[in-house]
Amino acid sequence: MIRARVSRQVFVIVAIASSACALGAQAARAPAPSPLYQPRTVKQAYAKGTRSPDGRPGPRYWQNRARYAMTVTVTPPERTVRGTEEIVYVNASPDTLQRLAIKLFLNIHKPGAPRNGGASPNYLTDGVRIERFTVNGAAQSWGNDATVFTNRIVPLPAPVAPNDSVRLGFEWSYDVSREANREGMTDPTTFYLAYFYPRVAVYDDLDGWDTMDFTDTQEFYSDFNDYDVTVRAPANFVVWGTGTLVNPAEVLQSEPLRRYQASLIADTVVHIATSADFTARNVTAQQPLSSWRFAARNIPDVAFNVSDHYVWDASSAVVDSTTNRRASVQAAYNETAADFRHMVRFGQDAVRWFSQRWPGTPYPYEKTTVVQGYADMEYPMMVNDGSTPDTTFSRFVAEHEIAHTWFPFHMGINETRYGFMDEGWATALEFLRNEAKMGPARATAFFKQFRVENWIRDPSPLEDLPIITPQDVLKGVAYGNNAYGKAALGYLAAKDLLGDVMFRRTLHAFIDRWNGKHPIPWDYFNTVNDVAKQNLNWFWDAWFFRNAYIDVGIAAARKTASGYTVTLDNIGGMPAPVDLVITYADGTTETRHQTPRMWASNTKRATISVATGKPVRSISLAGGIFMDADSRNDAWTPAQPAARR
Ligand SMILES: [Zn+2]
Repeated sequence: MIRARVSRQVFVIVAIASSACALGAQAARAPAPSPLYQPRTVKQAYAKGTRSPDGRPGPRYWQNRARYAMTVTVTPPERTVRGTEEIVYVNASPDTLQRLAIKLFLNIHKPGAPRNGGASPNYLTDGVRIERFTVNGAAQSWGNDATVFTNRIVPLPAPVAPNDSVRLGFEWSYDVSREANREGMTDPTTFYLAYFYPRVAVYDDLDGWDTMDFTDTQEFYSDFNDYDVTVRAPANFVVWGTGTLVNPAEVLQSEPLRRYQASLIADTVVHIATSADFTARNVTAQQPLSSWRFAARNIPDVAFNVSDHYVWDASSAVVDSTTNRRASVQAAYNETAADFRHMVRFGQDAVRWFSQRWPGTPYPYEKTTVVQGYADMEYPMMVNDGSTPDTTFSRFVAEHEIAHTWFPFHMGINETRYGFMDEGWATALEFLRNEAKMGPARATAFFKQFRVENWIRDPSPLEDLPIITPQDVLKGVAYGNNAYGKAALGYLAAKDLLGDVMFRRTLHAFIDRWNGKHPIPWDYFNTVNDVAKQNLNWFWDAWFFRNAYIDVGIAAARKTASGYTVTLDNIGGMPAPVDLVITYADGTTETRHQTPRMWASNTKRATISVATGKPVRSISLAGGIFMDADSRNDAWTPAQPAARR
């Protein structure tokens, strides 16, 4: 998700000093830092061997999975969606399961559901109606849902032993919410279906069943499953969705089919279905209901968009230069949305850039489809974004959501509890992408305004909670800034600390070790320590585990035989990089970049040697995106100005 859609007139050019020079003497060699705080669940995982203290999955790592086969019927403008589903849930855990946790996320729409925000009449529905529930083919009572909302514990008639499986059947229906957000009715005949099917919650090696409520702030936590989904929709409705469209020849007329197939290997944008095509009923098979069948393997979720008038553009991009594998890039939108006419191009650029540069591993799916809606939200192979009059902003939002393909989907992150491994990474990748696309100065100005200022200018203790705080209990600014800006700055500070080559090596090791699994923050921190062969716990601890913010001040500076010694205090606690901007008596200036390494031996105080033969008029601090909470302590001038000497 993009979060905080504030101030779009943000592309102000701000010049910042960014030249990096060789630095002076660094801090003395650090004593071994203390171990990071570990919850007891993490200690138990190490003891059981499901995770390793070096950051790898342990020799006894396991995770459960399922196969979902479902048929969903959606007939706009009728708002009722009906589904049947069979889930084969495989228990790979060493535990015998006496019960299951079932997620019914759309019960967030029920009156009385616990949620972090208010609910308008158009948002409310009567939630998910479970009309039939079977276990291994035998009908079971579903019971009363009056006070059970997004998470329901279901006892099993017989336990599921390790390495055994259970077959669940659901018939359900729900009414699409009139007020669209992450899902719902975008217009009377455009429905976005997400989180719409009953699913088995994650059962993992740390917490057992995920029983966290969905309260509309946090995001999700999903197993890697196989999906076979048939969406039945009336003639002239196109269905876009996660996974391979298995039967395009059955649902499309011959000309759109030809265009669709051409788009899969095209570099140019193909208009598969235009408004004129819809008006002439030239797009879909002309039968009362068509069955659009999608298949996806080893993926955390599926989402679909259904519309009878959204135009459909597509092209493709090479996302793996070693195999020349292409990903399809599609867009579906109201023809009046001018920004979306560029969306396939934006998507092509994004999947290429993220594949090649940062994170620099190939886009892991066969396609992405950017759909116009109101969510600014990511789904596997799908993006749902609002249209804006600022095309540059629209590009930025689409790229952020596409970056989520790696974090959380490819990496299987528990977004509900550790949103900073999801939003923090997408936000860091967003900055790196903008830096390449618009240049460091504009990217820095935008990032400061959109991601940092609201946090760093707010002295509330809510802003200083440790990033590691389980995010399922947070809301408001305490949730948002921990998940997005503070965490992104932490990852970018680690990049500055390690340098690009080593940072990339550690990031790729983390992706290699954990894609398709469920990494937790300790797995990331320990992987970096392991691969870089550096104990960076002093850095992780100060940035992610403490009540902290960024405030670096100049405590003192003194003249030495070889130049100056500058003493910096880390008042806010976060070990941020900083530039020393030195203004000489002759009016020239020089910028000397200090990485967070300066705080390695003492996270509270650092001493920097500035070798120079020239008299200094002033020394000041510039943090760039690492904005400083108190600028009053950021400059030093000699007691007797050098110019008068
Ligand atoms: Zn996001």
